[in-house]
Amino acid sequence: MTASTETRKFEAEVAQVLNLVTHSLYSHKEIFLRELVSNASDACDKLRFESIAHPELLAGEGELHIDVSWDEQARTVTVRDNGIGMNRDEVVANIGTIASSGTKRFLEAMSGEQKADARLIGQFGVGFYSAFVVADKVTVLTRRAGAAGEEGVKWESDGKGEYSLEQVELGGRGTTVILHLKADEDEFLKRWQLASLIRKYSDHVAFPIRMPKEAEGKPTDGWETVNDAGALWTKPKSEISDEDYQSFYKSLGHDFNDALAWTHNRVEGSQSFTTLLYLPSQPPFDLMMGGRDERKGLKLYIKRVFIMDAAEELLPNYLRFVRGVVDADDLPLNVSREILQHNRQLERIKAACVKRVLDLIEKLARDEPEKFATFYKAFGNTLKEGISEDANNRERIAKLLRFASTRGEDAGQMTGFDDYIGRMKAGQDAIWYITADSHKAAAGSPQLEAFKAKDLEVLLMSDRIDEWMLGSLNEYDGKPLKSVAKGDVPLDEADKQKQEEATKAAEPLLKKLKDLLGDRVGDVKVSARLTDSPSCLALSDYEMAPHLARLLREAGHDMPESKPTLEVNPQHPLVQRVETEADEGKAKDVAMLLLDQAEIAAGAQLPDPAAFVQRMNRVLLG
Ligand code: ADP
Ligand code: MG
Repeated sequence: MTASTETRKFEAEVAQVLNLVTHSLYSHKEIFLRELVSNASDACDKLRFESIAHPELLAGEGELHIDVSWDEQARTVTVRDNGIGMNRDEVVANIGTIASSGTKRFLEAMSGEQKADARLIGQFGVGFYSAFVVADKVTVLTRRAGAAGEEGVKWESDGKGEYSLEQVELGGRGTTVILHLKADEDEFLKRWQLASLIRKYSDHVAFPIRMPKEAEGKPTDGWETVNDAGALWTKPKSEISDEDYQSFYKSLGHDFNDALAWTHNRVEGSQSFTTLLYLPSQPPFDLMMGGRDERKGLKLYIKRVFIMDAAEELLPNYLRFVRGVVDADDLPLNVSREILQHNRQLERIKAACVKRVLDLIEKLARDEPEKFATFYKAFGNTLKEGISEDANNRERIAKLLRFASTRGEDAGQMTGFDDYIGRMKAGQDAIWYITADSHKAAAGSPQLEAFKAKDLEVLLMSDRIDEWMLGSLNEYDGKPLKSVAKGDVPLDEADKQKQEEATKAAEPLLKKLKDLLGDRVGDVKVSARLTDSPSCLALSDYEMAPHLARLLREAGHDMPESKPTLEVNPQHPLVQRVETEADEGKAKDVAMLLLDQAEIAAGAQLPDPAAFVQRMNRVLLG
């Protein structure tokens, strides 16, 4: 010990934290490297910032970097940076007392009963003290940038309550942290182990992290960079090529194909963060099945230090196809999943991510129709889940949806609600749609006939999720969404009168049909929907579409049997045959077939298929 050496006690809280950290972090001891590299990176960040005003601070060693080395003989691991460094007072303030904001929060949260709960420790940035999880002695050599060589500081502690301080001569600026490993921590004396931890936790730290090259198991004098070093998302957009974006996308894993599009943004302010979010060009095979449980590919970084895969915390489920990186400046390192789920800062970041993704999809829809079509084919149905999941963005999401339509149906064109509204006829007060379990069933439904005759466009919805989605989408842009299969058909005055007259004229027919069909129907009406077909089903406003009821029944759900309303077209010869047929058996067969075919067209389940076939054969044979 030289004359300038002094020994000090840690603040009471530091000793307390140290004790907790070393005991409770044992199962995650490898994070010490992440924490020390993170501090080194912060130190480089700080110097980089100060050097803007004082370029001379960078003199001597221009390039900021972090060196990680090991010494098998001495049993040490060393993390060195040529960043800002610390003077004596700063060493005392920063690592001799509770200076770290993370540690402060940690202690606050550990008040009262929780004091004893070591499990909480994982939720806070434990920072520098995590060194004592693997080391029984830590030496810090540091020299503030700009300070003279003899103003170096040596700090040393065994983490048991005291530390020593000594003034020393140091060659360069920055900080060297030497961990004297505990007896059973030999695993960290291997290059591949250290290198793989660096790649795992610190690959995108924006400074080169170098390690000595190895020869015959020993470190040599040559250095090589082991991390990517260029946190892509931290670079200005103008310096990033499309190829860079694409190769980074692939480095995120999960997809060998190019990304379809991306959005890269930096938010500055009381809370600063960067988002780089990608849309893949095709769905992962497990998007609909396993995809819900294991969502990967959206990574949370805090100050360029990888924290965790946090897709669920950062984006709602209906955007689960998004990949990328969120880098927050103001969250505590080592934050836990539990904390993230109730973190208000993160709520704001999440809302910003949703906004960015929706902006991006909107931009594709507006400017790049081909890419949008690719996106929609892959993820349109997933996006539809947002209609019920994200009420705040319902209108924005609805704007992005596309459906087949009775207009442009042949060309297979898809249309959105806005275009539909743009084509609405004078006096049309609703957005009309039909749901069915296939596009053919929707496009060929007899329920469309009157709409076609009146030249009213109808959206053809045939994805399973459509019916479910419509449960949360009653209107768009103030216009109600109405099913052509439900309720009344829109009629003008003249039509109404015709309809009334037709109903009056058909009274005997309707009575005969009701008698013949008995309890298979709730009601029989003259249809305003039909022009060509003899019959169709009509649903009340709250009735479930027959194809959906069938699907649910097939999936094992108990669905109440409801009696359908049959609508008939009295102009149709088959309907007229019921009226004129004197033989009651034959009339009943035809009446039943009118109901059977209406049910088939609506995708319902025939209650007795064999009986249907027999009746059809009887009628065919006359
Ligand atoms: P945090 O990083 O959250 O502030 P730490 O416990 O990791 O908490 O570090 C405590 C403080 O010690 C840092 O805020 C910093 O001021 C100082 N420090 C630690 N490592 C270094 C380093 N390599 N260079 C300069 N200062 C450092
Ligand atoms: Mg730290």
